[in-house]
Amino acid sequence: MTATVIVDVDGTLAEFHPDTVHHWVLGPIKQWDPFFAHMAEAPVIEPVARLVKLLKAQGQQIVICSGRPDTHRAHTQQWLVRHEIPFDAMYLRPDGHDHVDDEKVKEALLATMRDDGFEPWLVLDDRDAVVEQWRALGLTCLQCAPGDF
Ligand SMILES: [Mg+2]
Repeated sequence: MTATVIVDVDGTLAEFHPDTVHHWVLGPIKQWDPFFAHMAEAPVIEPVARLVKLLKAQGQQIVICSGRPDTHRAHTQQWLVRHEIPFDAMYLRPDGHDHVDDEKVKEALLATMRDDGFEPWLVLDDRDAVVEQWRALGLTCLQCAPGDF
């Protein structure tokens, strides 16, 4: 059973205000350290966390997929564990790809997760451009918050 649900982090599981973080991470040059210092204290978005737990309990594989960098994987892992979010794998932005748009990063990560044997059929995400990309790739994406940033 490899039926998989892809779940984003920022703005989907972790409370995130684009206006607060945009100067760190929403341009082509990323400043990850202040971003992670800020997001370490981000509250969990409870309805999404609850849905992810239900899906996991039902037998779905949960794959975390974020434009956060793989170089800082431990920060994201610690936050997920602290908030008891179940997940089977985590796919993050490859080192050296800071200039690549989130939606392109995630398109490439989708190919990798499929190569690894996951069979995604549903995505939870928030950012308009990313939601549009998941749909263009043939997946059903439930957009959980306004994402025009
Ligand atoms: Mg997001």
